Amino acid sequence: MSDTPSGRLFFQSETFRVEASSARTRHPRVTARHLTEPAREVPIHAECDVLVVGGGPAGTAAAVASSRLGARTMLLERHNHLGGLSTGGLVIWIDRMTDWSGKLVIRGFAEEYLARLPKGAISGPPREAWGSRDAATAAWWALRTAAFHGTVTHSPTADPEWMKAVALEMVIEAGAEPLFHAWGAQPVMQGDAVRGAIFESKQGRRAILAKVVVDATGDGDLFHRAGAACSDDIEEADIHHAMNTSWMFGGVDMVAYLRWRAEQPEQFAAFLQRGREAHGQFEKAFVSWRNDVALFMGPRMTGFSAVAVDDLTEVEIRSHRLMLAHLDFYRAHAPGFAGAWPLLSAPQLGIRHARRLIGLGAVTRAMWDGRVAPDEIGISPPLSPRFANVSVPYGALVPARLDGLLAPGRHLSCDATSHSFMREIPQCWLTGHAAGVAAALAADRGVEPRAVPVQDIRQFLHAQGAHLTASGAA
Ligand SMILES: Cc1cc2nc3c(=O)[nH]c(=O)nc-3n(C[C@H](O)[C@H](O)[C@H](O)COP(=O)(O)OP(=O)(O)OC[C@H]3O[C@@H](n4cnc5c(N)ncnc54)[C@H](O)[C@@H]3O)c2cc1C
Repeated sequence: MSDTPSGRLFFQSETFRVEASSARTRHPRVTARHLTEPAREVPIHAECDVLVVGGGPAGTAAAVASSRLGARTMLLERHNHLGGLSTGGLVIWIDRMTDWSGKLVIRGFAEEYLARLPKGAISGPPREAWGSRDAATAAWWALRTAAFHGTVTHSPTADPEWMKAVALEMVIEAGAEPLFHAWGAQPVMQGDAVRGAIFESKQGRRAILAKVVVDATGDGDLFHRAGAACSDDIEEADIHHAMNTSWMFGGVDMVAYLRWRAEQPEQFAAFLQRGREAHGQFEKAFVSWRNDVALFMGPRMTGFSAVAVDDLTEVEIRSHRLMLAHLDFYRAHAPGFAGAWPLLSAPQLGIRHARRLIGLGAVTRAMWDGRVAPDEIGISPPLSPRFANVSVPYGALVPARLDGLLAPGRHLSCDATSHSFMREIPQCWLTGHAAGVAAALAADRGVEPRAVPVQDIRQFLHAQGAHLTASGAA
């Protein structure tokens, strides 16, 4: 474990800085030339109260919450499924929702969603073990990504297909209207306010008009194109700016692998070292929701831009090649992997960080001291037991100047250090839930999101099961 100057205790995770491929250097793709696109009429596909762009954890939670409050809500997604990186990105290890005492602090949409997964589709410590500091229990769960700093946490692994299915049912049951294979391309502007989005699909360019837009693209596609200010500084020593495509191997025996890791730590360290020497970039296998499926959420690559299409292509090529290189190496050298086969490479490239909103407020390092935000819309567990729970302000979802838009999820307004945990899936459910409630209230009252009284947002969040600091608490 390392402890950065900012106080961030992070996992034993490596990142690999890589250089652009020689092919790109040989054939530079960006020219200095431009062409002018002619103006054209764009058909209006639909009109609604709340348009959510992006069906990842934040967008799914926002669509469900908004629709449950009676707003006509549409959910635009470029892929064929909901869940974003938590499903299509194979990020199936859901980070901590309990604080270091074992109390469940991320509730609301998150709690309801996970509770609806059928038995066998989710794996993690039982509720009575959350917060346990028993050394043997914690050591057992630490190998299964559910204990850190000697404390058992609620951080389960889940079946991505069941997560997709349950998310879709929740969205449809709530009355929200999903639209797949539709890429949000451009905000529709009315002065300084966003009032919809133009999307690209097989039918060409179309528009959806809305009273309020929730940008849940993760990369700030909508608010960036609407001219909102963004930040993109990073915490260099952290992994939050690394990219990679995850994958899963089937046909493994993770019990045998974990036993070997635990009982032969020197052999395991030598294995990792040889893997690094053989392939340059090398990754540990993590548990999944099944004993016969192994999860690889790296090797993590830095030095690429998450919003440059050539870089995204390069990361895909490298990740897919590394998957097959890992397959050979693990089959030959890792107990439990002799019969491994490549089950799936993630349909969605793993982007941890692209742009972050500059909001009315922000989650910052100064807020890790336990202070309660006056406009609190949720509570996040802190990075380590050294810090208090973090009170998440509504202002982190509201652009400093742009109207008609909210920005929950991994592109919310925060500093680079706080991004390390505010980008995690439970925190994206939390901010998405709040954005959905706020967007529905703004649309219903005909006011801008910044004008919705936070006590009203809190009241509806509370009614929908969210956990908040009691009103008036200091
Ligand atoms: C490799 C990796 C490992 C990680 N490990 C963990 C972990 O162990 N635990 C954890 O909790 N978190 C982890 N994270 C972080 C977490 O997965 C993400 O930060 C989280 O999923 C972000 O949720 P989101 O809804 O903000 O965005 P996303 O999950 O990125 O979802 C955005 C959705 O919007 C869609 N979209 C984007 N742009 C457009 C557009 N223009 N038009 C239409 N649709 C669009 C995308 O297709 C996607 O479905 C990891 C991330 C990565 C990449």
